[in-house]
Amino acid sequence: MILAIQPEETVRSFVARTLFIKGKHSSEEVFRKFPKNCALRSDIVLIAEMQGWIGCYGFNKILHKHTNYPLDEVFKNIQDISYSRGEYIGDYYCYGSNRTPAGFCPICVADDIKRLGFSFWRRAHCCELKVCAEHNVELVKRCPYCDKPFCQGGHDLNVMWSACEGQHLKGSSVTLNTDPFELKKAQIFGEILSAPCHLSEEAVLTVLDEKVNQDNNLKLRIWNSRYNQPLGYTIKRRLEIVKEARFKNRLPHGETTDFIIQAILGTYEKFSDFVIDVKAYGDETRPIESLWSTYISGHQESTHFVEENYDQGVGVWCCPFPAKDFLRMWDWRPVYYPCCSFERPKRKGHQPRPERVENAPPGVQRR
Ligand SMILES: [Zn+2]
Ligand SMILES: [Zn+2]
Repeated sequence: MILAIQPEETVRSFVARTLFIKGKHSSEEVFRKFPKNCALRSDIVLIAEMQGWIGCYGFNKILHKHTNYPLDEVFKNIQDISYSRGEYIGDYYCYGSNRTPAGFCPICVADDIKRLGFSFWRRAHCCELKVCAEHNVELVKRCPYCDKPFCQGGHDLNVMWSACEGQHLKGSSVTLNTDPFELKKAQIFGEILSAPCHLSEEAVLTVLDEKVNQDNNLKLRIWNSRYNQPLGYTIKRRLEIVKEARFKNRLPHGETTDFIIQAILGTYEKFSDFVIDVKAYGDETRPIESLWSTYISGHQESTHFVEENYDQGVGVWCCPFPAKDFLRMWDWRPVYYPCCSFERPKRKGHQPRPERVENAPPGVQRR
């Protein structure tokens, strides 16, 4: 029997809970082999499959519902028709590690136990947030009985289902939050995590550029000491890049969304008001789920996508925004697809040597 992952439960919590309940020896191999430190794409795909969520769609579904990845992807370039760019065929991103401290809200835990008989670790309580958006109480980030953090070097996640010094976490005392900013931040993070639609990055930046410019303090605030850049400048610069990229049909490189979230927190009280302003820009708001089956298969001059079709069991290639300027850089790239390469036109000079591609696109399961 496979346990069901709970709404908002982190992938790491689900894996730990399965191993705890079923025991190491009776759990499936994918749970036993799930890495403690850094979970990569291939680890996440296997866990999604255990829930019956297959292919690129299943991978993106688990990312969107059970990790904090939506904070990176909800604000999306209008020419990107994939949920997680090329992540589905890459192995670079770390989707959570045991070095990130977990946390919990004592009221959520007590409610879960009343409702389900057990609790679990929620994604919004395992990031930088300090407050539970639902109950406005401080998140517990260290064990109330021995002061250990819930990460590497402290307690592992199993303490949620066992005890520390004979005491269960549900008995933790509740501290009401008194900082309205932390509550607002938790609520806005929550709304981004459960956003039903992607918001156009260009629309988001245009709205924020105008708002931030009205507030000199915010405009000049250094949003990240590492880059030493004022918030107003960062938004304006990214907006220029995004607009130019759209004009040329050339998808810009990915960028952190920290500064966008900081600007929203600095200019809006409610995320819904921000969404209204963004929609007024006129760009399409695309339902999140509509992008789950598609991944970026390559960036040559233009961005190429593959959409997986689970009824037919095939991947459908497309290139909806062919680049307007033509670099000719990739014209002679010797890529050889054994099944369907066309004969190349004969040219003088250097001849490409056909090579088998290293990473063929993944196969597509049929439903
Ligand atoms: Zn709570
Ligand atoms: Zn403890």
